[in-house]
Amino acid sequence: MQISGIGIGRGIAVGAVLRMAEPIAAPADLPRAADASSEASRAHSALRATADDLSARAVMAGGEARDVLEAQALIAADPSVAVEIDERIEAGQCAERAVFDAFGSYRRTLEGLGGYLAERVADLDDVSRRVIARLTGVPMPEVPTSDLPYILVAHDLAPADTAGLDLEKVLAIVTAAGGPTSHTAILARQRRLPAIVGAAGCRELADGQLVVVDAPAGLVVCDPSATELDGARARGRLAAARDALVAGGGQRAQADGAAAQGAATKPGGLADGTRVPLLANLAHASDAATAIAFGAEGVGLLRTEFLYLDRHRAPSVAEQTERYVEAFRPFAGRPVIVRVLDAGADKKLAFLGHEHEENPALGRRGIRALREHEEVLVDQLRALVAARETTGVELGVMAPMVADADETEYFVELAREVGVSRVGINAEVPSAAVLADQLAPLVDFISIGTNDLTQYALAADRMLGSVAAFQDPWHPAVLRLARMIGAAGAAAGIPVGVCGEAAGDPLLALVLVGLGATELSMTPALLPEVRSELSRYTLAEARGAAEASVAARSAASARAAASSALSLSPRSVPS
Ligand code: PEP
Ligand code: MG
Repeated sequence: MQISGIGIGRGIAVGAVLRMAEPIAAPADLPRAADASSEASRAHSALRATADDLSARAVMAGGEARDVLEAQALIAADPSVAVEIDERIEAGQCAERAVFDAFGSYRRTLEGLGGYLAERVADLDDVSRRVIARLTGVPMPEVPTSDLPYILVAHDLAPADTAGLDLEKVLAIVTAAGGPTSHTAILARQRRLPAIVGAAGCRELADGQLVVVDAPAGLVVCDPSATELDGARARGRLAAARDALVAGGGQRAQADGAAAQGAATKPGGLADGTRVPLLANLAHASDAATAIAFGAEGVGLLRTEFLYLDRHRAPSVAEQTERYVEAFRPFAGRPVIVRVLDAGADKKLAFLGHEHEENPALGRRGIRALREHEEVLVDQLRALVAARETTGVELGVMAPMVADADETEYFVELAREVGVSRVGINAEVPSAAVLADQLAPLVDFISIGTNDLTQYALAADRMLGSVAAFQDPWHPAVLRLARMIGAAGAAAGIPVGVCGEAAGDPLLALVLVGLGATELSMTPALLPEVRSELSRYTLAEARGAAEASVAARSAASARAAASSALSLSPRSVPS
């Protein structure tokens, strides 16, 4: 039997399954048994204990996990959460259900924002479950422990679970939920753990069952034959050897200091000396240090949505400036591209006046919503200019979801008026690619958002696991759109970046350069591998691989065509 999902990384692991208990079920909607004040104090002490526990875990964890755990502890300690729970208890609910519903309403806000933020709901759900587990006296499902190495199978992993993950023991992760940008996927990439996410079929796996986790193929092979095992082990060894070769930088560079920084963090470029700056995608100011450690030459995408979450009013210019200064500081003198607020159109941000929409991804998203609330956009631009003045970064600002020349002109004029000197667009709506020859002369740069470009080109909701097979940026339709943008950028003499997840796939990164991308921005942990792949080929070779892939008829054949054009074995078999 095989179980399919979305593969993360290139690794292949063989081992026995160890399952994490299923998530705690929703508590029944029962009326409270005690009076409101004692029920509320029960809820408060569970919130407090959960906050303390998460803070303690944060101290033990490092890197991104620590930041997420601290953020979770703050959520548990947030007085407005307690107030919302109190109101529900006052209205007659028991503490467990009040906690569940209060967190549920925050969850819907987050989900409505779409994309990266929607995938953060796991963090919120985890806090909610921890509080409910304390109230009901049920143990929280934790990552299992074992003396032997194992394949961790779970519904999904929350940051609190992953913080203490024993990397000596966990060979790979398989989760039923999650998408390619979920927390589990990000963690797996950072730690170079093979993972399959969105593998609904993994619920069938039993403790002790032998499996092969084949991340490049997005497959879990259950009860493999002796031949399958031999093949998987050989490929696993090759993948590990390749990893060891390219991963001389990043985390190791942090630990080993300047000596290790050398090749692994040198500026990005092709074998013939063509420069391809390699930049980082950041979602929080706290990601900056990791990005520098992985050799980021700057920031290609700072998602600013984090500043607006759960707000009933937009943050002030001063508050925003302070947060941007924090994010910019490590990049003084370097390029930093910030994307203005990309709110979903699901009436979730009260101050953007959203109404209910049947298909929010096709609704008032990004620049459309901001244009109707120009004061929010102007405040954000002012804060960005102020932070640039304080830190001395080379600031570029781009607008999300721009569809045509009218929207481009609107944004460019406004941003210049406020004092932004490098203004660009995030090309992620197919119309922007089709019209790229009209848009490129209007801007200073374009950055291709392959995540949304793929979702819209293939009409496949990026949040929907059931259409995940269509969400492949290798699809020749997506590659052709990228080629149109690359050509328009070259004709206008402006840089064309890629900031979607596709830029972090080493072979696809090379193809994108062949299609005209001049810089690439990605999750910091992916930088070393992309840097290494680019350095092996010339621009002529990248263009040859690009030509071969755009002529293909499917995503899989585009990938295979690029591999064979570069005289590599197919990418799923690293050599
Ligand atoms: C994209 O769509 O590719 C992108 C970079 O933006 P986000 O993932 O934030 O929608
Ligand atoms: Mg996008």
